[in-house]
Amino acid sequence: MVTTRYEQLLQRLRGDGFRLTPQRMAVLRVLADDTGHPTVEQVYERVRVDYPTTSLATIYKTIDMLKGIGEVLELSVGESHRYDGRDPRPHPHLICEDCGSIIDLAIDGPLGDPAFLSAAATEVAAARGYHDVMPQLEFRGRCAACHASALAADRTL
Ligand SMILES: [Zn+2]
Ligand SMILES: [Zn+2]
Repeated sequence: MVTTRYEQLLQRLRGDGFRLTPQRMAVLRVLADDTGHPTVEQVYERVRVDYPTTSLATIYKTIDMLKGIGEVLELSVGESHRYDGRDPRPHPHLICEDCGSIIDLAIDGPLGDPAFLSAAATEVAAARGYHDVMPQLEFRGRCAACHASALAADRTL
């Protein structure tokens, strides 16, 4: 039997004794489905489609709680925080600097291995006396769509 990421999250929260309100479950569903690494505001917009009375504070609290138990990965990109609820382990991302899209990258070798990245972070923390060291591995560039529209814009100059 295949357990979906959503079911996994539900089980974890039930097991930890968290109260599962319909709004919270909706947040889990969005985070478990969204491959786009949404912001809190984007999660809020999606949850409000079905639960119009949900407050932004509820979204913040739920994501914070998930972060606290290691079930959501927070990425700092520019001024904003983006969230990956599908895979909370450290993994490489490909980021478009023009439109801000973020996709998960599968890479062969140690950089694509969450265990390697976690172990490296632990080593760095021990060696430097840092606490709460999180690996964040990014590849940045311009996505195909943004590249094409940049080319088109050049031509109209
Ligand atoms: Zn782009
Ligand atoms: Zn990701």
